[in-house]
Order: sequence, then C-alpha cells, then structure tokens
Amino acid sequence: MNRNIKKTALILGIAGQDGSFLARFLLSKNYSVFGTTRKKISLDQPNLRSLNIQKKVNLLSVELINYESVLELILKTSPDEIYCLAAQSSVSHSFQKPRATLESIIISTINVLEAVKKSNKEIKVYFAGSSECFGDTGIEPATENTPLNPCSPYGIAKSSAHLLTKNYKENYNIFACTGFLFNHESSLRPENFVTQKIIRSCVRISKGSQEKLELGNLSIIRDWGWAPEYVEAMWLMLQRPYPEDFIIATGQSNSLQSFVETSFNYFGLHWRDHILINKEFFRETDILVSRANPEKARKVLDWQPKKKIEDVIRGMIEHRMD
Ligand code: NDP
Repeated sequence: MNRNIKKTALILGIAGQDGSFLARFLLSKNYSVFGTTRKKISLDQPNLRSLNIQKKVNLLSVELINYESVLELILKTSPDEIYCLAAQSSVSHSFQKPRATLESIIISTINVLEAVKKSNKEIKVYFAGSSECFGDTGIEPATENTPLNPCSPYGIAKSSAHLLTKNYKENYNIFACTGFLFNHESSLRPENFVTQKIIRSCVRISKGSQEKLELGNLSIIRDWGWAPEYVEAMWLMLQRPYPEDFIIATGQSNSLQSFVETSFNYFGLHWRDHILINKEFFRETDILVSRANPEKARKVLDWQPKKKIEDVIRGMIEHRMD
C-alpha cells in the first residue's frame, strides 16, 4: 500500500468478532475505518473496547436492510473497500428465525451491491461467505469449485448472497468476491456458540463449579481456526488485481469431542466427568463433516494460518482465565 494515500474501509457489522479484529488490522495498516452497528452508537461496544479501538473507528448506526440508508452510508463515507460481515451468524438460530436470517444476509448484500453499482463501481466489496454453503463435505475437502449444497436457512442465505456477489462481479464488472471462511474462533466469539460455551464452562469447572455441560452431537467434524488470522485473508482478497473467491481454513478438521477433550485436558480434567449429551440438541440437518482445502489461498494470497485447534483452545482459555 502507498503510505501517502490513506485508504478508507467500511465494515458492516464492525462490532462482531471478525469486524472488531478486522478494524484493528486495518487501523494497523493506516486505514481510516468506518463501521456499522444496528445499536445506538453511544452504547458501549465490548469487542471494540476490549481491543482498545472503540475511539479509533467511526461508528455509524445503520439499518442495512433499507436500501436508501445503505446508499447514503456509502455516499457519506466514500470507502475504497467494503466488508460485508453483518449477519445473523448462528446456524442453529437460523432454524428458529429463518426470515430474519435471510433478510439480514441477502437483502443487506444486494443493497450494498446495488448501491456500489449506482454510486461508484471502483469500490471493492468483500462478502463473508461460509463453510455452510458446501453442506456436508464427506471425506473430500471443499475447494472453491465444490458445488453449493447448503442445508440450513443460514447456509442458504449465505449461498444466495454469494451468488448475487458473483452476479454483480460478472454483469457489472464490480470488484466483488466471497471468502468461504470455515469456523474461526477467539475470545470475542459470542456466548451462544458451542466453542465459547465449552471454554466458559470448562474454566468455571476448573475453578470448582459442579455444573454439567450439556452438548449435542460430539461426532460432528469441523475445521477450527483463529479469527485474528482470518481477517487478514479478507483484506488480502481485496488487494488482488481482480476479484476471486477463496476458501479460508486451516485444512485440518477435528471432531467436537476432540475440541471438548483438549479443553478439559488443559486443566487435567476428564471431559466425560463433566458433559451430558442432550438428544434435544441434535438436528437432523446437522452437517456431520466439514473439511476444507485452503491450497488456493496459500498459493495465490500467500496466506497460511499459524494457529491450529490446540492453539485456538489455549488462546480462548487463557483469555478467559485473565
Ligand atoms: P458475529 O455474530 O460476531 O458478528 C456479526 C455482527 O452482525 C454482529 O455483531 C451484529 O452487529 C450484526 N448482526 C447480527 N444480527 C444481525 C441482523 N439480524 N441483521 C444485521 N446485522 C446483524 O459474527 P462473526 O464476526 O463471527 O462473523 C462475521 C461474518 O462472517 C458473519 O457474516 C458470519 O456469518 C460470517 N462467518 C463467520 C464464521 C465464524 O466462524 N466466525 C464462519 C463463516 C462465516 P450489531 O449487533 O452491532 O448490529
């Protein structure tokens, strides 16, 4: 990046896990950072505060499902890059709130693409796709060419918004691309996600709590990485000469049982003594196996995650202990 020209980034969903890490990363690259939240901007933003950047970013309260608001936002902030991260981001929640999930992902994305098309086609757009777009991969890891096969309202919304992103790239020559990110965690992961639930319970049990942690299917297999490393990949995708989609993952998948086991092992505890399996948490459409091949990102973006599952767990536990 030319240090004399200060770039401007607009992060939709800046107060979430990825938005906060991305904001910190872009500030370190000397960007001017704008970001949206649905909440009042006078409210405390715990993630931004915990990274010590709440006062360094320009927060805007915007309803992204309203096209006029999105257009006004883009005209007002004149960004070089837009990162579309705002979403109802929980797969399990998407079964209870399918309409809100689809709206938050598909409508906000089409609003951004349409506003970019109308206002300034030089703006680069990143869309936060997901491993959920591929559904159950079986033993063959997903690549950028794997057919979409979502099996939740969340996955369907992400797949649709990805196709819209591709369509605007191809039809209107907009620099728009999708990052298919596989699961990535950190201490900023919301409490309702299973990894955060495990870490928090595990830490409490290590301090003497007698609670039992209720979980669903421990055989599900996922690829877990470290969120701060993944946001750099988002940025790298927008620094390319032309837009391309990428799988972002560690390339190593593990069972939820092994996540639980490693977490309890950290404290010298045996997971079986503290876990209850609750059949009500099982979903018929649960993806059993999710595997990724991030080779293209390694070759083209020169991006490779350093942290594997053990480091992710250690990082989350150590932060919680603090
Ligand atoms: P978070 O849930 O931490 O953050 C998403 C943000 O979106 C929230 O902080 C919230 O901001 C906003 N939001 C929530 N619900 C809605 C809604 N109904 N309408 C509009 N905005 C909403 O997610 P992450 O930071 O972990 O993920 C960032 C993006 O990447 C998301 O789109 C997610 O689906 C996707 N993704 C994440 C993966 C992961 O493992 N973390 C994996 C693959 C994809 P506020 O309340 O301030 O408005």
